[in-house]
Amino acid sequence: QVRVRFAPSPTGPLHIGGVRTALFNYLFAKKNNGVFFLRIEDTDQNRFVPGAEEYIMESLEWLGIAPDETIGKNEKFGPYKQSERKHLYLKYADDLINSGNAYYAFDTAEALDLHRKQHEEQGKTFIYNWHNREKLDTSLVISAEETAKRIAAGEEYVIRFKTPVDETLQLQDIIRGEVKFETNLLDDKVLFKSDGMPTYHLANIVDDHLMETSHVIRGEEWLPSMPLHVLLYRAFGWEAPQFAHLPLILKPVGNGKLSKRDGDKLGFPVFPLEWKTEDGISSGYREKGFFPETVINFLALLGWNDGTEQEIFTLEELVDKFDLNRVHKAGAKFDPEKNKWFNHQYLMKQSDSDLAEDFAPIVAEKGFSSFDCAQGDTLEMTKLEKIVSLIKERANFVSEFWDLSDFFFVAPTSYDEKARKNWKEETPALMQELISVLSEIADFTSVNIETIVKDWMTKNEIGMGKVMQPFRLSLVGALKGPHLFDIVELIGKEETIKRIETAIA
Ligand code: GLU
Repeated sequence: QVRVRFAPSPTGPLHIGGVRTALFNYLFAKKNNGVFFLRIEDTDQNRFVPGAEEYIMESLEWLGIAPDETIGKNEKFGPYKQSERKHLYLKYADDLINSGNAYYAFDTAEALDLHRKQHEEQGKTFIYNWHNREKLDTSLVISAEETAKRIAAGEEYVIRFKTPVDETLQLQDIIRGEVKFETNLLDDKVLFKSDGMPTYHLANIVDDHLMETSHVIRGEEWLPSMPLHVLLYRAFGWEAPQFAHLPLILKPVGNGKLSKRDGDKLGFPVFPLEWKTEDGISSGYREKGFFPETVINFLALLGWNDGTEQEIFTLEELVDKFDLNRVHKAGAKFDPEKNKWFNHQYLMKQSDSDLAEDFAPIVAEKGFSSFDCAQGDTLEMTKLEKIVSLIKERANFVSEFWDLSDFFFVAPTSYDEKARKNWKEETPALMQELISVLSEIADFTSVNIETIVKDWMTKNEIGMGKVMQPFRLSLVGALKGPHLFDIVELIGKEETIKRIETAIA
């Protein structure tokens, strides 16, 4: 059975790259009728940030890619939080000591720094591994008796992995194909720390094994850890899962990995949800007015496509089409402008009543709580829906609706100067005539008003621009907005006439 996991460390808000990792795991699981689980990797107590765990869960819920198993949900292999599995790991570290695959080390931080410095002075990088200890720097080697003595004396120690010497590892990655590593270039990583906690490497492997993880799908930054992880599985005598390392997400401009600073600089979020700390607020896609479907869609295309030109995918379609073998090796450029375009596509897919419902609180905040429109009528939801249907074409976000539609609610208080300058001497008289035409119309609906007004213009040989421009300017205050006669119908006869009168007064 396919069992994949998203295993974030709760060190802060989930970065958009982390969300992409979660999404690809989710898609792969669903595609293969498998299980997607969430495990919180919080063994590094120093980096623990309160609220981060809840933030991660809420993000996945909002996006509609909640895990099948996690803390408090189908805890088949629980606990799903590493700090609550603390008691488990020491035994596995001991097993590795007993099988000769790990050893105790007593080096102080100062001693390690010194070694590093000495190597640097000789132009070499300090690689802490058995190979170097035995061959190059025997001063680091301690005998078994000495080790036993120092432990008995209560000296602080860590447990390190004993990387095999002189091996070339030829490993398979689903996305990258064969990847090679020389073991002599690997550090003997710490597996167990003096504070009684395992490191990421040990806890991750033990848990992936115990939780029956079939595929490890994670960011490219973990590729350098792959040889150690494979060696750990081998040392334990466990079957390793398959690995797939996802491409980096790159800055929109320039080179390198997308960072929070890029977002701050160019004004786009790099987090799914807003994140508040004492230092300030980092904006989130949800609060910026992105639909969860949009975020899913643009993230899915960061490093993957289905081989066609298709760009709009629902979550169901993605599940259907997703294929790890089609994920690219090369980094994927993040494009915040294109993301807005995606949101527009999803905005256009919403029903007018849903959009009106999202818009209603904004309208209320502007003081139109009972949807009183300018003429004093009660603007029912259907009217709000109509307004929304007229302006949505021009919007990427519901938050832009008010600026696109304020003239439906309030009469203009000023007029676009350039347009106003174009008014001819005869304009006020023409507008006066228009008022009489409008006041005669019984069936005050867009199409009917348009027919009658246009008939009047044709009969009297009045040029279109002469009427339509000042007409629009009177109602909207600028030469913008949707079809003029739709506006006229919606604001109603009385208000239309009032606005024209004000404009020519
Ligand atoms: N806890 C690691 C992280 O924060 C998990 C890496 C992995 O998936 O193995 O990303």
